[in-house]
Amino acid sequence: MFDRVVLVTGGAGFLGSHLCDRLMGEGARVICLDNLMTGSISNISHLIGRPGFRFVQHDVITPFDPGERIDEIFNLACPASPPKYALDPIHTFQTCVLGAMNMLDLARRQGARIVQSSTSEVYGDPTVSPQPETYRGYVNPVGPRACYDEGKRGAETLFFHYRESYGVDARIARIFNTYGPRMSPDDGRVVSNFIVQALTGAPLTVYGTGEQTRSFCYVDDLVEGLLRLMAAPGHGLGPVNLGNPGEFTMLELAELVLAKTRAGSRLTFEALPQDDPRQRRPDIMLAGQMLGWAPTVPLSEGLDRTIAYFAESIHQGKTGE
Ligand code: NAD
Ligand code: UDP
Repeated sequence: MFDRVVLVTGGAGFLGSHLCDRLMGEGARVICLDNLMTGSISNISHLIGRPGFRFVQHDVITPFDPGERIDEIFNLACPASPPKYALDPIHTFQTCVLGAMNMLDLARRQGARIVQSSTSEVYGDPTVSPQPETYRGYVNPVGPRACYDEGKRGAETLFFHYRESYGVDARIARIFNTYGPRMSPDDGRVVSNFIVQALTGAPLTVYGTGEQTRSFCYVDDLVEGLLRLMAAPGHGLGPVNLGNPGEFTMLELAELVLAKTRAGSRLTFEALPQDDPRQRRPDIMLAGQMLGWAPTVPLSEGLDRTIAYFAESIHQGKTGE
């Protein structure tokens, strides 16, 4: 009845819920595993009860037995927002490393293909720009971001060795900042913060001088990249960067959000968090060659869609701010 069975860890989160939507649309059976730490049932409530969709509340730091055949695993479970992953850094590190190991063990037992959601944070505060996959990164192993950055680096190491030692078809995507509808309004990342602040008339909180840069990828493009990485021929692929190479300062982003929302908010400058990377821009040549993938939604258009989503959420009284 279903063409394949896909496990999505972190499936009730921002990216995971969009991925579940796409997979259900493709006729897959989807097992969505989440501990609901930063995700929400409201992200998947439209899928619950639909034939082929199963939600399991579970923490990936403990092994998981799905009790059925699995063909593919997307390992997305992990808080992605710096203030969220810093709340319980040891649990974040366990999620990255033990979560990856538990999912790799499951993939090995079942002969399933597995894709890891790694991150541009493996490049740390990069000394080269744009960042190609060959850049080894500049990461502080003992700072406040280390639980996430080093956890994700450790997970990549596990993916590499499960591929080399056990022949697991383990694939790695290095995801750059991605935004869009269903980000939690109190998530703490810059796009959701600025939009919610602008829509509620609050000052936009710019950290540091606002001259640091990021590259923002719209969620639909990112999900397409993850699906292509899973479907690509070969055995064990990546790491491959997935992101939008457009590079913006946080001041530029703030001005864009203010212009689009026609908000009268002012900017307020707050301290730059420790080890905040100064620049971030993906080199996506490999994704183009390997997957025929490139982002299609420019920041301006993606922001329009995201602002419309948050405006509707605020209208319905669903925001946390
Ligand atoms: P999110 O916080 O919205 O989603 C993460 C989901 O994982 C949530 O539903 C959360 O409840 C769940 N989760 C967290 N810890 C868990 C655990 N121990 N066991 C089970 N479930 C757990 O974040 P997101 O933006 O959707 O990110 C999804 C994945 O993509 C993460 O692995 C993140 O590291 C990666 N990523 C995201 C971005 C981005 O910009 N969105 C960039 C790079 C990497
Ligand atoms: N940032 C900001 N104001 C906010 C939230 C974040 O200026 O309200 C900055 C943050 O310091 C960083 C950039 O925006 O330089 C992106 O932050 P985010 O948390 O979205 O992602 P990450 O740092 O993980 O790339």
